[in-house]
Amino acid sequence: MGKSSKDKRDAYYRLAKEQGWRARSAFKLLQLDEEFDLFADVTRVVDLCAAPGSWSQVLSRVLIKGEKFGRAAWQNREAKFRQQMLGVFGPVKEAPEEQVVEVDPSEDDLKPRKDVKIVSIDLQPISPLPGIITLRADITHPATVPLLLNALDPDYDATSKDQKAAHPVDLVISDGAPDVTGLHDLDIYVQSQLLFAALNLALCVLKPGGKFVAKIFRGKNVDVLYAQLKIFFEEVHVAKPRSSRASSVEAFIVCLNFQPPKGFSASLEEPLGVGYRLTDMMEERQNAISLEAPTILQNPETSAWDCAPEYTRRTDADGVTEVEFEDLRAPEKDDVRWIAPFIACGDLSAFDSDASYRLPPGHVSLDPVQPPTAPPYKRALEMRKLAGGAYGKTGTKS
Ligand code: SAM
Repeated sequence: MGKSSKDKRDAYYRLAKEQGWRARSAFKLLQLDEEFDLFADVTRVVDLCAAPGSWSQVLSRVLIKGEKFGRAAWQNREAKFRQQMLGVFGPVKEAPEEQVVEVDPSEDDLKPRKDVKIVSIDLQPISPLPGIITLRADITHPATVPLLLNALDPDYDATSKDQKAAHPVDLVISDGAPDVTGLHDLDIYVQSQLLFAALNLALCVLKPGGKFVAKIFRGKNVDVLYAQLKIFFEEVHVAKPRSSRASSVEAFIVCLNFQPPKGFSASLEEPLGVGYRLTDMMEERQNAISLEAPTILQNPETSAWDCAPEYTRRTDADGVTEVEFEDLRAPEKDDVRWIAPFIACGDLSAFDSDASYRLPPGHVSLDPVQPPTAPPYKRALEMRKLAGGAYGKTGTKS
């Protein structure tokens, strides 16, 4: 977390320290969960690019401690309120506003889940978190896959072909970001490589029906990426949490219901994003769509024509009925783009991450919850110190 005066006036930066999160990114995951109910029925999770560990903290508090945030918290409050009202007044439909009780999480509200397994990976060391296995590794390196599989299942046999059956994971999240160079195209390219590495790992461990959430930078060809993800997941959304600055190209893809294509198996020898495997799969998919005949069915009882959703039926003034394509995904053979639904998430009353908030009177700046363990700028700071500070021994700024 930064320490500039802009950071101090950033509400999420301050809130993170007040609430004990290691980074303000925690709010991004919480707001994504508010929208997509990410943690519903989830017990096995892999957190990629996890340092300093605020996303892992969220996982730990939701899954291991059993705290409720996001949608689950609203549902919980609602249920509790109804229960209280039922006892006192009998069934009620709507709560009178002044009687809505804010329920603080108490020990009774905590519902720890059983058989939770969380593995967090980063290039940087992650300070320990209760119940979480942390690994220091590069997610773009093939050796990280067996490391991860071993952490998920200590009995893992590297020679076994049937890897996925042994390591079903419900959710893979990745907040990976390279050190930004400021060269826009280069940053987007490096980010996309991290994303493919995360996707490859996800494909090796996700169970059918699983979810994948990852940070992306929205560049000009991002809709090709959405189309590629659609090969593996039934639903692909792009989401921008309110705590992610509107001025940043950052967004998150939220992929739900993992449905690997028939015969697909994740391969370390042929990772996606390298070579032509993904391009070939895209082509196969396009061909399959082109061959699909429009499904137009006549209802035998009403004689009405029912069309598949990709087609519309138009009847002109003379009563002549025509069936036409209307979907953006109409089978254009060379069209490899797909526009994913874009969702802004986080309650509208939540803080605006682009605004600078006035500091409350008597504000005391708290120390970060977890100072960086091995920041990339550590060496530069040491060198500057040795040289006698920013102005050095000569008195001019270095
Ligand atoms: N989600 C984290 C949290 O909530 O604390 C913040 C993640 S931070 C924005 C991005 C992380 O990506 C950095 O810690 C960086 O070390 C990590 N990273 C970048 N490239 C990586 C790679 N190839 N393998 C593993 N981690 C990587």
